[in-house]
Amino acid sequence: MQRRSNATGLLLHYTNGGPVKGLQAPAAVRWVAQTLEEAGFETWAVGGAVRDSLAGRAGGDWDLATRAHPGEVRRIFRRTVPIRMDHGTVGVLARDGTMYEVTTFRRDVETTGRHAVVAFAESLDEDLARRDFTINALAWHPLREVLHDPFDGAADLERKILRTVGRPAERFSEDYLRVLRALRFAGAFGLEIEGDTWRALTAAVGRTGILSPERIREELEKVLAGSVRPSGALALYAASGILAFLYPELDALVTHPRAENGRWFAHSLRTVDALPAIRTELRWAALLEGIGEPEGPSGAGDGGLPAGDRAFLRTAALLTRLRTSNARVAALAELTRWMARPPDVGADDATLRRWLSAVGRERLRPLFRVWCAEVRADEPEGSPRTRRHLRALWTRLRGVARSGVPLGLSDLALTGRDLIRMGYTPGPHFGEVLDHLLDQVLEDPVRNRTADLQGEAVAWLEARGKSPGGRRG
Ligand code: ATP
Ligand code: MG
Repeated sequence: MQRRSNATGLLLHYTNGGPVKGLQAPAAVRWVAQTLEEAGFETWAVGGAVRDSLAGRAGGDWDLATRAHPGEVRRIFRRTVPIRMDHGTVGVLARDGTMYEVTTFRRDVETTGRHAVVAFAESLDEDLARRDFTINALAWHPLREVLHDPFDGAADLERKILRTVGRPAERFSEDYLRVLRALRFAGAFGLEIEGDTWRALTAAVGRTGILSPERIREELEKVLAGSVRPSGALALYAASGILAFLYPELDALVTHPRAENGRWFAHSLRTVDALPAIRTELRWAALLEGIGEPEGPSGAGDGGLPAGDRAFLRTAALLTRLRTSNARVAALAELTRWMARPPDVGADDATLRRWLSAVGRERLRPLFRVWCAEVRADEPEGSPRTRRHLRALWTRLRGVARSGVPLGLSDLALTGRDLIRMGYTPGPHFGEVLDHLLDQVLEDPVRNRTADLQGEAVAWLEARGKSPGGRRG
């Protein structure tokens, strides 16, 4: 790994004790640093918060790097939590109730492309040299108010350039997650990826398969949850080839012959941007929205299915591959299924009830949030008609949802327990007859009266050779 001497960097950026514009560590960070320095251990603020502050963004977590070893950090502070002692990280609970991560200076002893064996290092410079990009290799001394920037990260941030610390190909091969991190940071800060870094990055795409699916998902999650306009990073996902490699179902939205030169994907990205970051689930849904579209050789063998079902299956497959929790897979797959299948605005009431019954009341609002984002995403060219339709559809569907009409089995005036009371023995026909009753009630809610449903149930069961028997009690 290439290292540069720090002396020039230190001199270059030493600001005579004056504050660097926009840089001020929180009081608690200064307290942590001061406590360690008074105990004789050099301590710096490092990484993301320094970068974010320099870029004029409200910083994320302030992390500290120190010469003190973890055991020493734990002795010095009253309230600490061992976070990753083997990696030198101790959580220090400050007086403001915030936990700050304090990590001993480290260097990489061995790297595998997916993780590193680290050892404690003697100097801040060794610690900064193992960091991925110049903009992430900045250190700020919260007491002396000095920026230490041996790799010119501040200038890169200013000139809007992303490049690795040291030789790009080497740095990516040490940890292929950096390929994804580069795209995320470039997107989030609007940086251009410097030529050598870009060439090494695209060459490394094919090796990202050795990363754990969880880390790959967490990276995409950070793109979707942590930036105002995720489209920047996502467009770089497409341009770098990582989309084709890790998410071929989504890359089809760029490359499919019917996708009109990536217009489908561009539409998805605008929709993602039109949703606020706190609605991360809906951003996922928006990103996955067109996934059921291309019928072509997706390799999924689902060509004959309706687009909604394809969206459901492909979403489930993609998220399962990323080891997403079952509950989340189910929720997002349902959402993408129905996003592709809005009811017709002119449909009759019974059709709307059936649609809402299948979709579930609770999914109505999220669906409309995504559809509204789609409409906003296409403005000003989007048609006002679409907006009017959407509003009319919302008014009608919300009316149905709020009217209290029965929409699900639990709303029926007859239950399985009633059937038992009527003398029937439980079995698969219970589910079938209840589905039949719900169907009747969706057609005409007035039919939801116990006596009527009993009569209907007896007739339906009788026609299938089931009669009350084994009457109990
Ligand atoms: P954010 O928290 O917004 O994702 P960050 O820069 O704080 O951004 P973290 O993952 O929290 O990112 O890591 C903190 C710092 O640790 C980074 O700024 C970088 O200096 C270093 N770092 C993190 N991951 C790596 C990596 N894979 N390779 C090299 N350095 C890394
Ligand atoms: Mg961070």
